[in-house]
Amino acid sequence: MKLTLVKKIEEAKNTKSFYFKSDEKISWIPGQYIYITLSTLNYPDERGATRHFTISSSPTEGDLIQVTTRIREASGYKKTLDELSVGSVVEARGPMGSFVLTNHYSPITNHLFLAGGIGITPFRSMIKYNIDKGLNIPMYLIYSNSDSDFTFKKELDEWQKENKNIKVTYFNSSVSGHLDAQKLNILISDHFISSVFWVVGPNIFIDAMEEILEELKISNDQIKTEKFTGY
Ligand SMILES: Cc1cc2nc3c(=O)[nH]c(=O)nc-3n(C[C@H](O)[C@H](O)[C@H](O)COP(=O)(O)OP(=O)(O)OC[C@H]3O[C@@H](n4cnc5c(N)ncnc54)[C@H](O)[C@@H]3O)c2cc1C
Repeated sequence: MKLTLVKKIEEAKNTKSFYFKSDEKISWIPGQYIYITLSTLNYPDERGATRHFTISSSPTEGDLIQVTTRIREASGYKKTLDELSVGSVVEARGPMGSFVLTNHYSPITNHLFLAGGIGITPFRSMIKYNIDKGLNIPMYLIYSNSDSDFTFKKELDEWQKENKNIKVTYFNSSVSGHLDAQKLNILISDHFISSVFWVVGPNIFIDAMEEILEELKISNDQIKTEKFTGY
């Protein structure tokens, strides 16, 4: 399918959302991703012209597909993406992926979301979907970032304020050090220990969280992970 860039928004330092309109009817489940291929690269990039991106918007927000990423100088792909002007067309494949929030989750199951940096993207979609659909699924997001510039913070703060089933804790690892079993144990408390644990971020974050969750005796079938490979 072809996607046309409709707008770009700066979400945090060096982090932007790109909103696309599809030439085909597209439906997705919160948590799914697409492949985006740029027609030409303005700068060399040994990884080529295609990347995966999770759709950070919820299907309840309309037809626009939002993807959110950190722009790094070292990535020819990201620099080219950042330079696309409104009206530019890219090629996309998807949506796909099984790391998804479906309607069968009930208000009696707690969900503990562990986001590492840009790993916040599927959780934005899931939380917004939960709110817009009135599902009342208890969701507790622990959002770890390497600085205090948390992507989507304004929205997350509003959603937490207006919905008693949504809770967010921001964890700035440059101030508090990396999350470890002791720190996480204090944050999750007994109330969330039987949750479904969803973990998203770069491989290094997933590996660290898996070790911690094992230490906390969380069973494997309570844990779902999505590795943002490529970092
Ligand atoms: C299922 C799935 C979903 C994904 N969803 C998303 C998403 O929603 N948003 C998203 O941004 N990515 C997502 N990714 C990852 C994405 O596809 C890219 O692989 C990733 O963003 C890296 O892109 P890049 O290689 O262009 O450049 P980058 O890694 O961004 O930058 C290029 C270079 O910068 C350097 N670099 C990287 N990280 C650092 C750092 N912390 N400090 C200093 N230097 C660094 C490295 O040399 C790297 O090669 C997803 C991946 C998968 C598999």
